[in-house]
Amino acid sequence: MSLHIPYSSIAYHQNIQLDIKRLDLIHPYISGNKYFKLKYNLAYAQQHDYQGILSFGGAYSNHILALAYACQQSNLKSIAIIRGNELAHHPLNPILQQAQAWGMQFIFVSREEYRLRYHDDYLNSLQQKFANFYILPEGGHNDLAIKGCQEILTADDLTQYDYICCAVGTSGTITGLAQRATQQHLLGFSALKGYDFNIQQTNIKIIDDYCCGGYAKITPSLHTFLEDFQHQYNIELDPIYTGKMMYGIFDLIQQSYFPKQSRILAIHTGGLIAGQYLLKDKSHATL
Ligand SMILES: *Cc1c(COP(=O)(O)O)cnc(C)c1O
Repeated sequence: MSLHIPYSSIAYHQNIQLDIKRLDLIHPYISGNKYFKLKYNLAYAQQHDYQGILSFGGAYSNHILALAYACQQSNLKSIAIIRGNELAHHPLNPILQQAQAWGMQFIFVSREEYRLRYHDDYLNSLQQKFANFYILPEGGHNDLAIKGCQEILTADDLTQYDYICCAVGTSGTITGLAQRATQQHLLGFSALKGYDFNIQQTNIKIIDDYCCGGYAKITPSLHTFLEDFQHQYNIELDPIYTGKMMYGIFDLIQQSYFPKQSRILAIHTGGLIAGQYLLKDKSHATL
């Protein structure tokens, strides 16, 4: 499938060009960057005759939702290890309901068990139990995901922009972007407080000043910003990732962080479905 990805221009400031690359419009379910992160992982699972893919996530994970849909489309089974064993005794939230409708099975685990998700012994025991499943880390973060994310930027993007901005969770997306964009400034807006991404490239800067206190935390001023932005530009942002990125970009423009005539490309990485449900259902925001 060859992708045509639209751009939206934000007429915000006469000295700055700010465009948004609309990965959110690629697909309603394999949203945004998750399309690129899953692309080579799905191909790998199929080529190696796995029966399905097993991965990890919180109850409002865009990755889990995208994985469920993509596996169904690719005739693969899917299993998700979901953080929070108390969730087993509640009705499924709309994200998990949708994933289940696409055939995903869930294993709800305690937070202690979830913390083992990168430990070799734990992964080995899962691999023994689910021998025909390809195990994909949380957020789909691995080398094949980074390879897929290199394809987000076209050759034209590289000549037309000085700054490339994206939201950061596991950092897979920005790492992929950085493998193409070696001459541009890359700004990553972290969805989490504090970060330890071990990124070496000097043109990458990761900022957590706009995470609003932590993952999936929403402050009143972020909320107002999202509403105003949607009203003014008719572009929806999610409160966990892209909303915080844009909140940060606007603030940095205000502070004259970007030199005059800067050409900024912000990547809209999608995430709208999980984001909407999270806003409606803050009581279950255990991410
Ligand atoms: C998953 C996600 C991210 C984070 O991407 P990473 O590769 O984990 O850094 C950013 N934005 C949205 C909308 C996402 O769903």
